[in-house]
Amino acid sequence: MNPEAVDVAIVGAGVAGAATAWWLRRMDPSVSVALIERDPQFSQASSQRSASSIRQQFSIPVNVALSQFGLSFLKQAPDLLTVDGQAPSLGLTLPGYLYLADDTQAPALAQQNAVQRGLGADIHLLNPEDLTSRFPWLNTQDLALGSHGLGVEGWFDGPALHMAFVRAARALGARWMAQTVEGLVLQDAGVEHRRIQALRLADGSILRCGQVVNAAGAWSRALAAMAGLSLPVHARRRTVFVLSCPVVLPDCPLVIDPTGFWFRPDALIPSGGQRFLLGTTPQLDADDLPLEPQLQEFSEDLWAQLAHRVPAFEAVRIERAWAGYYEMNIFDHNALIGPHAQCPNLLSITGFSGHGMQQAAGAGRGLAEWILHGQYRSLDLSALSPDRVVRNQPLFEANVIG
Ligand SMILES: Cc1cc2nc3c(=O)[nH]c(=O)nc-3n(C[C@H](O)[C@H](O)[C@H](O)COP(=O)(O)OP(=O)(O)OC[C@H]3O[C@@H](n4cnc5c(N)ncnc54)[C@H](O)[C@@H]3O)c2cc1C
Repeated sequence: MNPEAVDVAIVGAGVAGAATAWWLRRMDPSVSVALIERDPQFSQASSQRSASSIRQQFSIPVNVALSQFGLSFLKQAPDLLTVDGQAPSLGLTLPGYLYLADDTQAPALAQQNAVQRGLGADIHLLNPEDLTSRFPWLNTQDLALGSHGLGVEGWFDGPALHMAFVRAARALGARWMAQTVEGLVLQDAGVEHRRIQALRLADGSILRCGQVVNAAGAWSRALAAMAGLSLPVHARRRTVFVLSCPVVLPDCPLVIDPTGFWFRPDALIPSGGQRFLLGTTPQLDADDLPLEPQLQEFSEDLWAQLAHRVPAFEAVRIERAWAGYYEMNIFDHNALIGPHAQCPNLLSITGFSGHGMQQAAGAGRGLAEWILHGQYRSLDLSALSPDRVVRNQPLFEANVIG
């Protein structure tokens, strides 16, 4: 490969960029790919700070389909992503998501269930009696309905999946560049349809490229701005709390409370009890807040709601917490995948708004197909095109968590 030129330059080696690189090299080894990452330790990357859960309970068909593919990919990933005989261990666990609804929320939950089941998602509606008999530790007093995806939803080791994609993409010949992209060299800058000719890197070098993939996560708006484009992706901090509970909750799924918080099991505690992860939407949701976990977000109110839903949580203790950025698409909370009409050789794979870990495998496959063939060949991702922002036609997803 000419070291100063590459067919596809991928900016950002989080799970989205690494998955795209892996698919590109797997589909066509003749295509040269550079994976460019300014922070090789991934100290701020969302892919190392994810709660890494996967569900099919979305309201939009393309999101359901992406996660269905994500699940089948996760099942095969230990084989597909083996490098030098080392298969990644991804800890896929599938006790389901459990969405809980009160009287006012129940009709919408039932309606979404019909969409999901129509797409082949095996999600079951449970009335309060069913909920009590399945999950005796749950307070169902004020609930009207639940929906549960046993065996098709759950969680996995997302940071391990991310690193497995990075290693496997490099093993397939993607060129690793520990560099910051500082600028774009544009042909016809300022005109309606511009083209990127090259990337300007922090060490002063120039990398010529045929296509550029914006996989810069929470920082992808800044990269798009280098091409004169505005992208509605903002870095929004989310805190995940690690709780210990002296009591084990048998068969506990990832639970979404009607008030908005979520929790899921993490691990059993050897001395007894169980560890849980918990998250909620913060009241202060400004851009680019420092990546420090916000213990005060675990408010008295949240504590009370938690103990109301699971009386055993009366005794939980906060063990620790971490924070990461959602790469939040404030336009419509859905991924932005594909080329930009005003700059067709800049392609985005960003804006996942809290569901990018589970969608990365399918999104990367789709973008690789688009780059190689100019069309989607497996799953049609055109509904997620960034053009919808320019056309002001949002694609609303009802089930955004946090
Ligand atoms: C707390 C939390 C919980 C989550 N829970 C879930 C979940 O349960 N399920 C789920 O599916 N998803 C979840 N997500 C979302 C998921 O983790 C993200 O959508 C996904 O990791 C985004 O991956 P990415 O590759 O787009 O971004 P990142 O992993 O952030 O990678 C982007 C990379 O780009 C690099 N970069 C940026 N600018 C430049 C530049 N100019 N030059 C070179 N490199 C650059 C950065 O250094 C970074 O490493 C969660 C996220 C958070 C923060």
